[in-house]
Amino acid sequence: MLNRYSLSFRSPRHIHCSLAALIALGLAALSGCGDAASDAPFDTVFNPCEPLAIVAQAGTRPEQLESLDAAIAMWNQAAGLKLVRDGADIEAQIPVYFEDGAPFMHGFYSQDLGTVTVNQKLNARERTITAAHELGHAFGLHHIDAAARPSIMNHGNLSREISAEDVEMLHSLWPQCQPSEDTPNA
Ligand SMILES: [Zn+2]
Repeated sequence: MLNRYSLSFRSPRHIHCSLAALIALGLAALSGCGDAASDAPFDTVFNPCEPLAIVAQAGTRPEQLESLDAAIAMWNQAAGLKLVRDGADIEAQIPVYFEDGAPFMHGFYSQDLGTVTVNQKLNARERTITAAHELGHAFGLHHIDAAARPSIMNHGNLSREISAEDVEMLHSLWPQCQPSEDTPNA
């Protein structure tokens, strides 16, 4: 009797676990970045202090390239990086895709593939912010709670730019990015 009783429990528990896995997957998709709430290091990160090409895929439309160029310029100006778009001679490359996505899905950084995808349904400004955010993930940056401080890395961010703290965060992750002298005191 006892055996049968515990057996009858096993089945619903198994279903519950599968459901939990499904919910977790859904949440990962919702976060739009593939990192959920984890602070675990990404499997693939790119050193933004080394020569690094941000490569738009063939068929990317001019207005999408404009958004991507603005995101690249945003990081270069804020953090003193030298990211270039395309740059076939550069070994380290982050492929960028513009694709249709669900409205809640702004963008995605695949830490398996080392690729950035931006929802092309967003407007120009939103595409730029999203591309800069996803590139932040590619550099190893995790989400910053919006309640803690405004950041390009706020979850679901479509409007906040790279802050001084974001640059500090990047420089602490990649110290060699930091200018050795003439650091302006903000
Ligand atoms: Zn994100």
